[in-house]
Amino acid sequence: MSPEPKPTLRWSKSSLGPRLLVATFNRGKLREMKLSLATAPVELVSLEAIRGVTTAPEEGNTFEANARQKAVHYSRFTELPTMADDSGLLVDALGGRPGVYSARYLSEQASDEDRCRKILEELGPVEDARRTARFECWIALAQRGVVQEVFRGTLRGVIGRDLRGDNGFGYDPIFQVPERGCSLAELSPGEKLRISHRGRALRKLQQALFGA
Ligand code: IMP
Repeated sequence: MSPEPKPTLRWSKSSLGPRLLVATFNRGKLREMKLSLATAPVELVSLEAIRGVTTAPEEGNTFEANARQKAVHYSRFTELPTMADDSGLLVDALGGRPGVYSARYLSEQASDEDRCRKILEELGPVEDARRTARFECWIALAQRGVVQEVFRGTLRGVIGRDLRGDNGFGYDPIFQVPERGCSLAELSPGEKLRISHRGRALRKLQQALFGA
């Protein structure tokens, strides 16, 4: 990967155009980002509205590297201020897997449910105390191919014994939040955002951009 140019301008309210690109093809992420930024003084544009957009490469070994790569790619392609999320699940007893491969775990064609079942199968009878895991979310903000800021959020929890709940996406049905006594997929979208890795990263972004 070629070295990134040093940021030449810091993000400020005056440099923010009226439109902000939410650079993801993942519908679950898009829903959460739109909900979190619903009252922000900016028009959110999704990638689906951009004609002829090419998919960003994801060649990094870390969430941060991938978030930066996506934000640079889409902000160059569209010339819009762009936010890009790279995120995933890290299961301690699996040595941090699936990690940056969360979206591609098992196979590109597998469903979210297949991937959840794969994690449960790999953990097998491992006792509760060793089923700890965390979600990480890194959101990079870029303008004209230059990353301005990166925001991070983490959520710790425990991998359950089966799939629970129909809300959310990805690994939510197997991710138990001990303080709530339920899985992330059993929380409403608003409740999930209040505690989740993505909610935390998005609040930092909002504070930096809009001071609220
Ligand atoms: P990315 O698009 O390469 O960042 O992959 C993210 C993947 O991580 C998603 O496809 C999900 O499998 C998983 N993931 C990220 N955030 C969440 C979440 O909030 N809930 C459940 N799974 C998530």
